[in-house]
Amino acid sequence: MIPGARLVILGRQGAGKGTQCVRLSRHFVVPHISTGDMLRAAVREGSPLGKMAKEVMDAGGLVGDEIMVGLVEQRLQRDDARTRGYILDGFPRTVPQAQELERITDDKPIDVVLDLEVPRELVLERITSRRVCRDCGTNYVATGSERGPSICDVCGGDVMQRDDDTPEAINHRLDLYEEQTSPLIEYYEKIGKLMVIDGVGTPDAVFAQLVAAVDGARRT
Ligand code: ADP
Repeated sequence: MIPGARLVILGRQGAGKGTQCVRLSRHFVVPHISTGDMLRAAVREGSPLGKMAKEVMDAGGLVGDEIMVGLVEQRLQRDDARTRGYILDGFPRTVPQAQELERITDDKPIDVVLDLEVPRELVLERITSRRVCRDCGTNYVATGSERGPSICDVCGGDVMQRDDDTPEAINHRLDLYEEQTSPLIEYYEKIGKLMVIDGVGTPDAVFAQLVAAVDGARRT
């Protein structure tokens, strides 16, 4: 039997979290819980949460901690997460969110926090050419030769540029990452949960390092 895992992945926008999470989710047979995808789904549904989140997201800001904690707490209570575990992508993003996550996972703590390190200059290039399936969240790289919108290989949905992948919003998100999210690296290092992974390399090479880090952390 494949053992499950309870994982958090940190890393700048464009570090490759989305791509690697899809693979990790298949490998460990755990749900990929992306708070960005959850918020984008709420935006498409036009729910009150979605209406509020759209404004914040398009400006590159952060949705309030209380709302995010509520969303994640509910999601982690579902059967798949309770039995197999999960990979959390996009949460926590602030120290208060990390503290709340410790409370929520009190009975079954996180195994390891993976920090996917890619320098800022490189992620800026990557995000500019990023395209995302609006239905299943699969990431693609635009080559510049596409004529019109493309169709997702995985689910057949529309592959588009995200509304918040404009240069202004990207720069703002990267600034917020340095200010609010990078303190989490120290936070998890102090409690002995952090594994830093070099995110510059082929997707296969990065994936192999991630799996080795999770397996190593679970053996200790
Ligand atoms: P990125 O990593 O490129 O910023 P995500 O898909 O993870 O993209 O998130 C998109 C947006 O959703 C963020 O810019 C933010 O506005 C909002 N968001 C997602 N997760 C959180 C969170 N944990 N706390 C606050 N806002 C969040």
